[in-house]
Amino acid sequence: MDRRKFLKKAAAVTAGVAAAGAVSSAPVRAGNKIRWRMVTSWPPGFPILQTGAERFAKRVEEMSGGRLAIHVFAGGELVPPLGVFDAVSQGSVQCGHSAAYYWAGKCPAAQWFTTVPFGLDAQGINSWLYFGGGLKLWEEVYAKFNLVPRPAGNTGVQMGGWFNRKIESIDDFKGLKMRIPGLGGKVISKAGGVVVLLPGGEIYTSLERGVIDATEWVGPAHDLRMGFQRVAKYYYTPGWHEPGSVLELCINKKAYDSLPADLKIVVDAAAAELNVQMLSEFETANAAGLEKLRADKKVQILSFPPEVMNKLRQYAEETVNEVAASDKTAKKVNDAFQKFRKQLYGWNRISEKAYYDKIMG
Ligand code: CA
Repeated sequence: MDRRKFLKKAAAVTAGVAAAGAVSSAPVRAGNKIRWRMVTSWPPGFPILQTGAERFAKRVEEMSGGRLAIHVFAGGELVPPLGVFDAVSQGSVQCGHSAAYYWAGKCPAAQWFTTVPFGLDAQGINSWLYFGGGLKLWEEVYAKFNLVPRPAGNTGVQMGGWFNRKIESIDDFKGLKMRIPGLGGKVISKAGGVVVLLPGGEIYTSLERGVIDATEWVGPAHDLRMGFQRVAKYYYTPGWHEPGSVLELCINKKAYDSLPADLKIVVDAAAAELNVQMLSEFETANAAGLEKLRADKKVQILSFPPEVMNKLRQYAEETVNEVAASDKTAKKVNDAFQKFRKQLYGWNRISEKAYYDKIMG
């Protein structure tokens, strides 16, 4: 996913809403019924992400017997796509659906609750969040912003990106112009690449005209919708920079705390349901998308060579440590994350990895 795309798509709508200034603070109560508003970072109707957020709202209403109703607004309909954090934090709306790494500028530690390069996959980060102390840390970090976080979706392992130059050694990144945001971008810079920032709407033509040589996006399902298969020769795996990005439900802390105990459980349960369903939907849609891409036979699907992966891993480690060293909270979160990762990898090496190595060769 890419915030710029959402920003661009939503810009027109946002301007109108901002002018109207139509944001009030408290949840509306009518008798027994509580009404919340949810804002998201996704364009209207955006598959899996926006449709998932809407399904969450529907489930909350059903599970609460209609006592908690959530009206969902897509990015830009009420606040800008990247205004989610502030709107929920300030209480202008009660909750939001987005991704924590978008808030790195306000809270560097937030990135660890979405994904870090060479970090945990979806199963691993869910284990960390639910049972390894990760969610407790996330709650601690977000409490300062008057927010309660819940994991509410995961992209699964993303793809490494679309390239018009073959990557055969780490030197092939030298001078390579790539659109890749966040920590992944910092890693590419270390490898000698030129990170180009582009709004989502401009990536396709930039790749087509050679303004950039490569771009990452998400996975086959969303990438094919962008049309990258028509303007790139190589589709590289794996998405080392986003091995399983968590989507977040962020709730205004006052709004959450004021819910009766049973409605808190409803919200938590619906978030957990969305968390597993969104990952499942991503996996299903990506598998179908990949099959379609393979059938077209126009794009070569390649793996980064082991030597390249080793170098990227080294640069990623340096990058993550540098970012963690710059912020006390980020360091605390990174320490906990790395400790858990090390322990989990010990197990995964003889469980998941051993299994897939054996069955897939
Ligand atoms: Ca991505």
